[in-house]
Amino acid sequence: MISTKMQTLAQNNSVIRAMFEEGKQMAAEFGAENVFDFSLGNPSVPSPAAVNAAAIDILQHEDDLMLHGYMSNAGFEDVRQAVADSLNRRFGTSYGAQNILMTVGAAGGLNIILKVLLNPGDEVITFAPYFVEYKNYVNNYDGNLVVIPANIPSFQPDLEKLAAAITPRTKAVIVNTPNNPSGAIYSAETLAAMASVLESKSLEFGQPIYLISDEPYRELAYDGVEVPWIPHFYANTMVCYSWSKSLSLPGERIGYLVLPSEMDEAELIQSAASIAGRVMGFVNAPSLMQRVVARCVDEKTDLAAYAANRKLLYDGLTELGYECVYPAGAFYLFVKTPEDEAAFVAHAKQHHLLLVPGSSFACPGYVRIAYCVSPETIRRSMPAFKALAGEIGL
Ligand code: PLP
Repeated sequence: MISTKMQTLAQNNSVIRAMFEEGKQMAAEFGAENVFDFSLGNPSVPSPAAVNAAAIDILQHEDDLMLHGYMSNAGFEDVRQAVADSLNRRFGTSYGAQNILMTVGAAGGLNIILKVLLNPGDEVITFAPYFVEYKNYVNNYDGNLVVIPANIPSFQPDLEKLAAAITPRTKAVIVNTPNNPSGAIYSAETLAAMASVLESKSLEFGQPIYLISDEPYRELAYDGVEVPWIPHFYANTMVCYSWSKSLSLPGERIGYLVLPSEMDEAELIQSAASIAGRVMGFVNAPSLMQRVVARCVDEKTDLAAYAANRKLLYDGLTELGYECVYPAGAFYLFVKTPEDEAAFVAHAKQHHLLLVPGSSFACPGYVRIAYCVSPETIRRSMPAFKALAGEIGL
């Protein structure tokens, strides 16, 4: 018999797993070109050419024993320094290798932080809509995820509700900006106000409340909107970054944590974090990918391609009468369901449109449409969205 905790996790996972399996089945039955799978956040833009070129060059010219060998749990020293230097250039910080820990994607980074921070019964606060895995990760370390309901329609964090949700058991707050699934980007003013809430509550309860900034979409911000560097606002911030979306490398599992020296107990957290990955069994981030990203820290994805998809989908859907906020970042459209959410998702499926229900992000009454697909998929899906709109009387 599998563990009780794993039984719950497996059950929680079943909605998304079912959709994934269903998509494959529908593609086999109706032809892949007739199924519009908007369910996955898998980048549709290839990695910049420099990524593969770096991998080839490294494999041909770097020392094999070093390349394929064990290294410090936190990652290669020179790679961490290259990441620190790049952040320092961009954000005017003064990080060194000791502040960077290479991770197995953002998921690996989040798990390391939660493993380091949580005792059983500790609380972690986040804002709906949120990335579905946060709950599983927090529960895995016997913590409780406290969810602040969505602030509709802006999807900006509700700071009064944040202040009210903080208790002596609050260890951390997770923010995700640009946001999956709403596309919202938190402004500098919002972050400054959030910092003052966290500072006064940390004082009130006599212990630090850490802010975990989950940033896999940092580079996906449109129309020149700035994504502020959160540690500038709040000293007890840890940043969780990934190249899964920004360099289209989700299968390679590569990212990093920023553990600033300005944090309370910074050295203790840094050393515990490098041990946490070992305890969890993945030990260190993949070595070849560490060396690749070190050479590609300043490479950029084709943002224009996602921006064009965003406009195509938003214009098409709003013209048909669907309601949604024009997303400022990431690659998802979060659309209000014109009827009951479950009924809408089922109706959409009849038109071969695979959409993720908002309740998977603790925000019922919405669906997430991932526009990291080809522009042809968006164009070809429009008659299906139109037929769906007609059928439900939009
Ligand atoms: N956080 C958010 C908000 C995400 O959307 C994702 C992936 O979609 C992750 C974390 C996990 O990213 P990674 O593939 O780098 O582990």
